[in-house]
Amino acid sequence: MDGRKIEDYRDIVGDKVISVLFKESTPLRGKRILNVNSTYMGGGVAEMLWSIVPLMNDLGIEYGWRVIHGTAEFFPITKKWHNALQGEQITVTDHEKNIYTGINQLFSRFTHIKHDVMIVHDPQPLPLISFYPKRQPWIWRCHIDLSEPNKEAWSYIKKFILRYDNTVFSADKFAQSDLPNDKSLIAPAIDPLTTKNMEMDESRRKQVLEEHGINLDRPIISQVSRFDKWKDPLGVVEIFKKVKKTVDAQLVLLGAPASDDPECQQIFRELKSKIKNLDDVRLINKQSDLLVNSVQAQSDVVIQKSTREGFGLTVTEALWKGTPVVASDVGGIPLQVIDGETGFLLPPDDHEGFARKIVEIIEDDDLGNELGQKGKEHVRNNFLVTRLMLEWIQQIKAILRSTKVGTI
Ligand code: UDP
Repeated sequence: MDGRKIEDYRDIVGDKVISVLFKESTPLRGKRILNVNSTYMGGGVAEMLWSIVPLMNDLGIEYGWRVIHGTAEFFPITKKWHNALQGEQITVTDHEKNIYTGINQLFSRFTHIKHDVMIVHDPQPLPLISFYPKRQPWIWRCHIDLSEPNKEAWSYIKKFILRYDNTVFSADKFAQSDLPNDKSLIAPAIDPLTTKNMEMDESRRKQVLEEHGINLDRPIISQVSRFDKWKDPLGVVEIFKKVKKTVDAQLVLLGAPASDDPECQQIFRELKSKIKNLDDVRLINKQSDLLVNSVQAQSDVVIQKSTREGFGLTVTEALWKGTPVVASDVGGIPLQVIDGETGFLLPPDDHEGFARKIVEIIEDDDLGNELGQKGKEHVRNNFLVTRLMLEWIQQIKAILRSTKVGTI
């Protein structure tokens, strides 16, 4: 495991950003902040915690991370909440609600909290707050789009949120208007020095791709995402069929299971049967940061065909590699893909439009290069981990001040 230090980022973000981070974090030295989420691997939340947690410690903040221990029954239920909060019509039984709160209660029995600030991520550990005496400010960090939740699910979930001192969303439009809590916005970010995002030697990259059966002689279109219905990999295959009518490209669909997402394997099986008779589609179900990096960097076009999306870190990652992105105009994607400038945005169901833009980029190298370069600078200025750290430092200082629980 590498031990990155804040100063390692100087070459990428400049001296000023580094010095501001040290200065702003001084009042938080020795403060204990605890993050709780539901998986150590898979998905954007775990991805960000792996970066930000050690770096905050390098600043002298005791920034911790614990993962709620779910059971085989727990994660299908929390995935249901996730789907319902993104608008799906579902019913959750009383038995399922009891498992949801019961696992949280059990976790609270053996997880002792003596921290100055709590940050709880997403719905899985949300009810934890009900099972502790509230001795410190609690922040609910919601990474999903709550703009049109299923009403019944929302009403149930909201009763836990109301206990929190603050809520943090990735974009303004994600927060429900009937949530009276204080709300803040913090856009996610990527770490440019991880295996997934570092600059790779071209020969190494090509070797990794060849080892996975990816042909380097033909244009590559890819989507790197959990095999999740909201990411719509089946729709990506439909678009690819249209692209194939004009250019001899290949499609790479790369996904990896997340331990808190039980639906991935089912979608993977559906995909497998859908592409049975299609040449030129590489479907890869495996976690490899080196492969994610290689695919995103080598692709001629990266697609993100989500029908609902939180922020979409895969988009940030692709833009950082200078790869043009054609993506759905949903969730946090439009914050990253500025239509016609850093990529192209389309309504999720406009398969024709997706195919047209992909072909346009493949056939015009200059267009691809220009979109890619602008995309990379957009990420450098807005979506790197150093900006994320600074915003969290400010957020934590503000909440300590306003709740007057700690002293800073
Ligand atoms: N990811 C990965 N391997 C895969 C697919 C996805 O490591 O095969 C990572 C991806 O690189 C990104 C994260 O999982 O860092 C997904 O974050 P995003 O915000 O795009 O979506 P989420 O899964 O959180 O909905």
